[in-house]
Amino acid sequence: MHEISICNALLDRIEAERNTRTFSRVRRVRIEIGQFSCVEPDALRYAFELMTRGSLIEGATLELDRPPGRATCLACGAEVEVASRTDLCPACRTGALRVTGGDGMRFVEMEVS
Ligand SMILES: [Zn+2]
Repeated sequence: MHEISICNALLDRIEAERNTRTFSRVRRVRIEIGQFSCVEPDALRYAFELMTRGSLIEGATLELDRPPGRATCLACGAEVEVASRTDLCPACRTGALRVTGGDGMRFVEMEVS
Protein backbone atom coordinates (compact mmCIF):
# COMPACT_ATOMS: atom_id res chain seq x y z
CA MET A 1 0.00 0.00 0.00
CA HIS A 2 1.30 3.39 -1.08
CA GLU A 3 0.35 5.10 2.19
CA ILE A 4 2.52 2.68 4.17
CA SER A 5 5.64 3.47 2.16
CA ILE A 6 5.01 7.20 2.50
CA CYS A 7 4.58 6.71 6.20
CA ASN A 8 7.82 4.74 6.37
CA ALA A 9 9.67 7.53 4.59
CA LEU A 10 8.19 10.00 7.04
CA LEU A 11 9.23 7.93 10.07
CA ASP A 12 12.76 7.65 8.65
CA ARG A 13 12.82 11.42 8.31
CA ILE A 14 11.72 11.92 11.92
CA GLU A 15 14.34 9.39 13.06
CA ALA A 16 17.01 11.34 11.17
CA GLU A 17 15.80 14.51 12.90
CA ARG A 18 16.37 12.81 16.24
CA ASN A 19 20.05 12.49 15.43
CA THR A 20 20.38 16.25 15.16
CA ARG A 21 18.39 17.38 18.19
CA THR A 22 16.98 15.97 21.38
CA PHE A 23 13.29 15.57 22.00
CA SER A 24 11.08 13.13 23.81
CA ARG A 25 7.73 13.62 22.07
CA VAL A 26 6.59 14.59 18.62
CA ARG A 27 3.49 16.79 18.88
CA ARG A 28 2.76 17.69 15.32
CA VAL A 29 4.12 16.78 11.92
CA ARG A 30 3.43 18.74 8.76
CA ILE A 31 4.00 17.28 5.34
CA GLU A 32 3.12 18.07 1.77
CA ILE A 33 1.59 15.47 -0.49
CA GLY A 34 1.29 16.75 -4.03
CA GLN A 35 -2.13 16.53 -5.62
CA PHE A 36 -0.70 14.26 -8.32
CA SER A 37 0.21 11.73 -5.74
CA CYS A 38 -2.42 8.99 -5.46
CA VAL A 39 -2.67 9.15 -1.72
CA GLU A 40 -5.81 8.86 0.34
CA PRO A 41 -5.34 11.34 3.20
CA ASP A 42 -7.57 9.27 5.48
CA ALA A 43 -5.62 6.10 4.73
CA LEU A 44 -2.38 7.95 5.36
CA ARG A 45 -3.61 9.25 8.71
CA TYR A 46 -4.70 5.76 9.64
CA ALA A 47 -1.34 4.25 8.67
CA PHE A 48 0.44 7.00 10.61
CA GLU A 49 -1.65 6.30 13.68
CA LEU A 50 -0.99 2.56 13.54
CA MET A 51 2.70 2.80 12.74
CA THR A 52 3.50 5.32 15.46
CA ARG A 53 1.66 3.49 18.22
CA GLY A 54 3.93 2.93 21.19
CA SER A 55 6.60 5.29 19.84
CA LEU A 56 7.46 8.85 20.78
CA ILE A 57 5.38 9.95 17.83
CA GLU A 58 2.18 8.37 19.12
CA GLY A 59 -0.63 10.88 19.35
CA ALA A 60 1.09 13.45 17.14
CA THR A 61 -1.13 15.47 14.82
CA LEU A 62 -0.47 14.81 11.17
CA GLU A 63 -1.03 17.91 9.07
CA LEU A 64 -1.35 17.40 5.36
CA ASP A 65 -0.88 20.08 2.74
CA ARG A 66 -1.98 19.24 -0.78
CA PRO A 67 -0.14 21.61 -3.08
CA PRO A 68 -1.22 21.56 -6.72
CA GLY A 69 0.82 19.69 -9.26
CA ARG A 70 3.38 21.57 -11.30
CA ALA A 71 3.87 21.13 -14.99
CA THR A 72 5.49 22.65 -18.05
CA CYS A 73 3.49 23.15 -21.23
CA LEU A 74 4.97 21.32 -24.19
CA ALA A 75 3.48 23.88 -26.58
CA CYS A 76 4.03 27.35 -25.09
CA GLY A 77 6.55 26.51 -22.39
CA ALA A 78 4.50 28.03 -19.55
CA GLU A 79 5.17 26.70 -16.08
CA VAL A 80 1.80 26.18 -14.48
CA GLU A 81 0.04 24.68 -11.50
CA VAL A 82 -2.65 22.16 -12.29
CA ALA A 83 -4.91 19.90 -10.31
CA SER A 84 -4.96 17.01 -12.76
CA ARG A 85 -2.36 15.29 -14.91
CA THR A 86 -4.73 15.32 -17.85
CA ASP A 87 -5.44 19.06 -17.82
CA LEU A 88 -4.50 21.10 -20.84
CA CYS A 89 -2.22 24.07 -20.37
CA PRO A 90 -4.25 26.85 -18.66
CA ALA A 91 -2.12 29.50 -20.40
CA CYS A 92 -2.58 28.56 -24.06
CA ARG A 93 -5.42 26.05 -23.66
CA THR A 94 -3.96 23.76 -26.28
CA GLY A 95 -0.75 22.27 -25.04
CA ALA A 96 -0.21 19.00 -23.31
CA LEU A 97 1.66 19.23 -20.02
CA ARG A 98 4.76 17.54 -18.77
CA VAL A 99 4.56 17.02 -15.01
CA THR A 100 7.50 18.54 -13.15
CA GLY A 101 6.36 18.25 -9.55
CA GLY A 102 3.56 17.59 -7.13
CA ASP A 103 3.69 13.82 -7.09
CA GLY A 104 5.79 13.26 -4.04
CA MET A 105 5.87 13.66 -0.29
CA ARG A 106 7.83 16.47 1.32
CA PHE A 107 8.54 16.84 4.99
CA VAL A 108 7.77 20.42 6.01
CA GLU A 109 8.21 20.78 9.76
CA MET A 110 7.42 19.24 13.07
CA GLU A 111 6.79 20.36 16.60
CA VAL A 112 8.47 18.47 19.39
CA SER A 113 8.87 18.70 23.10
ZN1 LIG B 1 0.66 26.26 -23.05
